[in-house]
Amino acid sequence: MISSAQELCSIPMPEEHYGMDDYNKGVARWCPGCGGHSILTAVQRVCKDKQYPPEKTVCVSGIGCSSRFPHYMGTYGFHGLHGRAFPVACGVKFRRPDLHVFTITGDGDCCSIGAGHWIHAIRYNMKMVVLLFDNGIYGLTKKQTSPTSPQGTHSNTHPRGSILPPINPILTTLSLPNVSFVAQTTDWNFAHMYATIGKAADHPGLAFVRIVQRCPAFMKDLYGDISGDPEKLILLNHENGIQLKDKAKNAFTRVIEHNPLDMNEAREISEIKDGIPVGLFYQNASNPRYDQYGAHNLGMSIADKKIAVESLLDNYTIRNSQS
Ligand code: SF4
Ligand code: MG
Repeated sequence: MISSAQELCSIPMPEEHYGMDDYNKGVARWCPGCGGHSILTAVQRVCKDKQYPPEKTVCVSGIGCSSRFPHYMGTYGFHGLHGRAFPVACGVKFRRPDLHVFTITGDGDCCSIGAGHWIHAIRYNMKMVVLLFDNGIYGLTKKQTSPTSPQGTHSNTHPRGSILPPINPILTTLSLPNVSFVAQTTDWNFAHMYATIGKAADHPGLAFVRIVQRCPAFMKDLYGDISGDPEKLILLNHENGIQLKDKAKNAFTRVIEHNPLDMNEAREISEIKDGIPVGLFYQNASNPRYDQYGAHNLGMSIADKKIAVESLLDNYTIRNSQS
């Protein structure tokens, strides 16, 4: 009788298992109380729970407080130029579709200098998780008005109060062509943030998550008071939305039933002013993805390459039969 190699081997063959330490690197140098700390822990926990190999995971960022994120992840990382997280992340995903990509950007980085890239990244819909750390201010450069600063914000650029109305990142993203996943959460509700990032990681295209983030150094008044007030968060509830355990769900006092297939309702909810709606606004898993047309030959097994080539050829077959 022939024994298997494992039976013959006296050394136990442990299953590969990554712990939190495998995704950790260095000491995060954000201010005490900064929302970045809990976001970092949530992403590390999602990576661990999904057992993403650190060498197959990449965090890409632009410039800003949030963009220091790749330095603190024990994965590959790219700390890029201001506003340029999206093109770098799209390039990585297009060439290496086998990698897990997290794009980290801030309100200035994404919604101002990087706005053009934001639009096209949504349209290209390559599979990645985009985390917009939105603290409503330029924090790294010490308090200038950002595109999401509430009107009237006193800052170094507008000491008498900002003049223009802010961009609504959720409404803007919902209005872009080929948008496939839009969610919102807050750094101070860890259970919801963790569940949201986990759901985003499972989405087949680009998952855009706005994280309403506290900046106690420069925007203490914006979320400092409301972060302890459960009345200010409004949970979007649906069987296809973000799933919470009962204890976390019951902590919400305000709940709206919302089907994430309903784009019109998603847009209406994004304009609610007397609270912060958190949950899945919109999801469409069947939108076309540009990374399916990219390189299918690097970092893949022979079997995966074969499947990828066949699926690429299927695209041409379908297109030719429709023409
Ligand atoms: Fe965080 Fe604000 Fe400090 Fe930047 S300035 S690290 S966003 S608290
Ligand atoms: Mg900011």
